[in-house]
Amino acid sequence: MTIKHEVPSYLTQHGIGPWGDYLEQIDRVTPYLGNLARWVETMKRPKRMLIVDVPIERDDGTIAHFEGYRVQHNTSRGPGKGGVRFHQDVTLSEVMALSAWMTVKNAAVNVPYGGAKGGIRVDPKTLSQGELQRMTRRYTSEIGIIIGPNKDIPAPDVNTNEQIMAWMMDTYSMNQGSTASGVVTGKPISLGGSLGRREATGRGVFVVGCEAAVKRGLNIHGAKVAVQGFGNVGGIAARLFAEAGAKVVAVQDHISTVMRSSGLDVAALQAHVNETGSVAGFRGGEEVSDRAQFWAVDCDILVPAALEQQITVENAPTIRAKIILEGANGPTSPAADDILHEKGVLVVPDVIANAGGVTVSYFEWVQDFSSFFWTEDEINLRLTRIMREAFTAVWQLAEEKKVSLRTAAFIVACTRVLQAREMRGLYP
Ligand code: GLU
Repeated sequence: MTIKHEVPSYLTQHGIGPWGDYLEQIDRVTPYLGNLARWVETMKRPKRMLIVDVPIERDDGTIAHFEGYRVQHNTSRGPGKGGVRFHQDVTLSEVMALSAWMTVKNAAVNVPYGGAKGGIRVDPKTLSQGELQRMTRRYTSEIGIIIGPNKDIPAPDVNTNEQIMAWMMDTYSMNQGSTASGVVTGKPISLGGSLGRREATGRGVFVVGCEAAVKRGLNIHGAKVAVQGFGNVGGIAARLFAEAGAKVVAVQDHISTVMRSSGLDVAALQAHVNETGSVAGFRGGEEVSDRAQFWAVDCDILVPAALEQQITVENAPTIRAKIILEGANGPTSPAADDILHEKGVLVVPDVIANAGGVTVSYFEWVQDFSSFFWTEDEINLRLTRIMREAFTAVWQLAEEKKVSLRTAAFIVACTRVLQAREMRGLYP
């Protein structure tokens, strides 16, 4: 008798959305996994998914409900780990993909975590500070049954920051009856946060960018860089590239695009963004209304550092960059990946390029457990070493197997995850 292998509908979204992109990436790596391919279905099924209702009382006395999620994709190598996103487009399937990319990322840079992610479907700009705090606390309380310093450790992601991590830490601690600083990372320094954490993702992008430039014979000094997203990742990466002598020729955010072929003044742009919330209206460059022009800009290095599914079959053929550094998670669709590969564009995948954030989150978690804090120099040195080593290992494997850096990174990561899976064995 054959047993019918029913796959729940939410798991079969090949070709649809970020989860569809992720499934395609797993299919591409499977032929390289040898005997471990027997376990590959593990990668396609999140271990645990929680959907929660998050009700709050608005300032005007009405009641609003938001949908919240926490997905623990895999815990074979350690506790779940990954950020929390507040965005109006968050869906369960997006959080599934983001949690799965955390599993791959944590294994690719070899930090001892599984992968997880959370989010609330909300535009936080529509909330007052009080409402934001109440929503964050209620969400934390609702997911409190599955998070914890040894279970699953949230962190910042799109539209979440140190203040939100402080509220999450406090809410969890209040429910537990004692202060548990290790329950989240990306906290303020005064609450057990780590020096260098805020800049870590952007710094990691810069570090692997320098490595990739060496491989491509490109001098960072004078190189032309274009950045999509000017938040915690894109803004810091742009600053570090500019400080190293590169010219930041284009920046795009959710509202506008500014360009200057001789290089934008990144510090002035950052000051403008801090004041107005967007690059729109910045006087030190030309504002371009056609968003598609950003992708076709004359540049050497392109840094998508905003959201998923930005580089598509439509704009990939127009890209002129030699190197793409994925500061965002999942910015490139598999079909666009193929086009870039054909064109000889070097794509440093998200699971390596943006792993600096979770790497310093790991340092923060270790510091909290030992109650012993490191200097910023120590943190940046260790971060740089881990990023370089991960990049080099993936580069060598890509050469050896004649595959893209993404497939090589997935080979390294899936092998680590599935070896752990196999060694632990199935329970019961
Ligand atoms: N949200 C970040 C990411 O996508 C950081 C996650 C973390 O530090 O746990 O990698």
